Amino acid sequence: MKIICIGRNYVDHAKELNNPLPKEPIFFLKPDSSLLRRNRPFFYPDFSTDIHYEVELVYKICKVGKNINKKFAHTYYNQVGIGIDFTARDLQRKSKEKGLPWAIAKGFDNAAPISPFMNISEFTDLKNIHFRLENNGEVVQQGCSSDMIFSIDSLIAYMSIFMTLKTGDLIFTGTPAGVGPIQINDSLEAFIEDRQMLKCKIK
Ligand code: ZN
Repeated sequence: MKIICIGRNYVDHAKELNNPLPKEPIFFLKPDSSLLRRNRPFFYPDFSTDIHYEVELVYKICKVGKNINKKFAHTYYNQVGIGIDFTARDLQRKSKEKGLPWAIAKGFDNAAPISPFMNISEFTDLKNIHFRLENNGEVVQQGCSSDMIFSIDSLIAYMSIFMTLKTGDLIFTGTPAGVGPIQINDSLEAFIEDRQMLKCKIK
């Protein structure tokens, strides 16, 4: 399986990092070794001193598809969860300066804590999924699927031009504003609506 992540999919987050708004989705990959499941703790690695949280809605692909028409894109996912796209901002900054790929800044081990998934039938309005991240009990990020620049259906249509989507692939759909650094002993909790979905203690 692969993990496809979207950059700059919320206007307020693109602005906070002084990035221009994209005309087409920007995407990158994380390897499956970056997944961190079952609320396991995250151990701060030695190679970075500036790891940031980015909370994101995550959609799970349920059938194989290529060149998917946007009209039918909604039939290619049936579950939604929430994840954190940990980013080594210092390594990413260096890569950006040199125009190099973000692989190590985004794809290191455990850089993708992920919650269990909810079936889409559990949502009353898929276009309006509210989510948030708390750090040590304080809300640090909140967003709504309606604020995405590119909807999940547009993302699937666009990505499947280049890459065949397969059952079990995960799509991280980008983060709203409020990203920030983590510190050892922080306690992150991610919610979809008022349901606590994910916890991650930093060690
Ligand atoms: Zn992200």
